[in-house]
Amino acid sequence: MSTMRIGSFEIQRVLEWVGPIKTVGEMFPDTADEAWTEDLAPHHWTPSTGAYRAAIQTWVLREGGRTILIDTGVGNDRARPQAPAFDHLDTDFLQRLARLGVDPAEVDVVVNTHIHYDHVGWNTRLDGTNWVPTFPNATYLVPQRDYDYFNPENAGSMRAARTEDEERRFAGARLVFADSITPIVEAGHLQTWDGEHRIDDALRLESAPGHTPGSSVAWLETGAGAVFVGDLMHTPVQIAHPDDPCAFDLDPEAASASRRQVLSAAARAGATVFPAHFAGHGAASVSAHDAANFRVDKWADFTAV
Ligand SMILES: [Zn+2]
Repeated sequence: MSTMRIGSFEIQRVLEWVGPIKTVGEMFPDTADEAWTEDLAPHHWTPSTGAYRAAIQTWVLREGGRTILIDTGVGNDRARPQAPAFDHLDTDFLQRLARLGVDPAEVDVVVNTHIHYDHVGWNTRLDGTNWVPTFPNATYLVPQRDYDYFNPENAGSMRAARTEDEERRFAGARLVFADSITPIVEAGHLQTWDGEHRIDDALRLESAPGHTPGSSVAWLETGAGAVFVGDLMHTPVQIAHPDDPCAFDLDPEAASASRRQVLSAAARAGATVFPAHFAGHGAASVSAHDAANFRVDKWADFTAV
């Protein structure tokens, strides 16, 4: 299946990339080896190599003639020395979007859950030598705290890198801001928000800090409900073990608290959880397993990748 209906909304997935990124040990340094079970293979990890496997995808929401995109992947043509696998990426993402009937000019709202290179890339495209908005009529919603944190004008506010990998990624964040955020500001299409922001009666953005200072989730409050959680979790293992950090969490303790809070609310509401990077079926409904943990009840019907 390629379309899921929740209330009056149609939800579709546009995959930009899927493959191995680092090892599960590098990505989730506090996670016990036993947590990586066979049932999570082959989509979420590769037991023979220990590779963590991720998807990079955009969630497309349509309702009443409106189109809303949640996260915009890596994008084409850009220098990403901090992530060599994605340096000058060249995919047919826009054609994949077109195959769903999405005309970039008809996108109304773009939600960036946070300002990392793999969530803001298709905000822009290269036109000659200029970066221009890919979605020329859209309002781009960006968390204020990430806008302030990653803005090179406030470089002093970034926390010091703790590893060489962080040093590379923190330096690369300047490139991301320059090619994927600044052109949206200059075009007058960027709108920042903080705490909570209501897009309409059914769709509400909420801060869920930790992975980055401004990391956020989007609650769809209609029908059975859904929550688009961005990088609040990178693997189903973090549903069963919500205190396990991802190596890319800037503030692991805050990320863990946000993960628990959002998973609890999703379990109570019966809302389907749509992370940014789950391969496989991409999304799942969850329930409280015991006092401390959660479990996947049912995977979404999207074709497994
Ligand atoms: Zn990400």
